[in-house]
Amino acid sequence: MRYLFNDWSKLRGGLENSRVVLFLDYDGTLAPIADTPDKAVISKEAKGLLRELSKKRGCRLAVISGRSLKDIKGVVGLKDIIYSGNHGLEIDGPELKFKSVVPSGFKETAGKIKLDLLKRLAGIKGVILEDKGYTLSVHYRLVKKEDIHLVKAAFHGAVIRYLAGKRVKLSYGKMVLELKPPVEWDKGKSVMWLLTRREFAPGGDPVLPVYIGDDVTDEDAFSSLRKKGLTVFVGKPGKSGAEYYLKGHRDVLKFLRMVNDLKRERGHGGDRERKRAL
Ligand SMILES: [Mg+2]
Repeated sequence: MRYLFNDWSKLRGGLENSRVVLFLDYDGTLAPIADTPDKAVISKEAKGLLRELSKKRGCRLAVISGRSLKDIKGVVGLKDIIYSGNHGLEIDGPELKFKSVVPSGFKETAGKIKLDLLKRLAGIKGVILEDKGYTLSVHYRLVKKEDIHLVKAAFHGAVIRYLAGKRVKLSYGKMVLELKPPVEWDKGKSVMWLLTRREFAPGGDPVLPVYIGDDVTDEDAFSSLRKKGLTVFVGKPGKSGAEYYLKGHRDVLKFLRMVNDLKRERGHGGDRERKRAL
């Protein structure tokens, strides 16, 4: 795994001359990790930068998150970019809509598990149960260290009898346990689906996908995009399957600013170049 800025001179040309599709995770990537999901706020600076990037020629933006689509759209708050919520189970963008089909009975099962979980988690301080429509999340960042095993036991107790029949799926993120529908769909598959959309390469220009994320669920995207684009893990270099790493969300902003500087305004590039030629 290499530090991305050490290879900047090698990567710069590709970023400048391709249609860059930036797939950006939110928590821990665009915004610092916070104690509770509602406190993870994107800075004005980052938001402004994303807005600029979204208006650039040869640049597309997609925010890929485990949050619900409604939530992620609300916290980022930009129009004209693509949002992928619930790890790709729901996608919305200009002329683009996708909602995963969920096996019949899943909603009822998830509803039962939610009620059971509320009871099982009732005595544990700091735990947050979040219903995201397609998925249920149990956040334990604020739970005392010695109580974390209680959260895990409660979660497994509530889901175990549905696992055998493959009626639900589980996933584990940073300080979060998740219940998901039993579908073969993840951040990686949804990114590959997005890349097959025509709007990403209308002129036949080469497309360079860039995926930046910090969590376990981003690994699916790293493996899908390996050798096809730039894969960037955010955090201390370690077990990730990404090719590059950045140290934190500040590094991510620095990188996005560098990409932004490489890209021309949409619709004005031609004029400016003509003027320069004169
Ligand atoms: Mg994240």
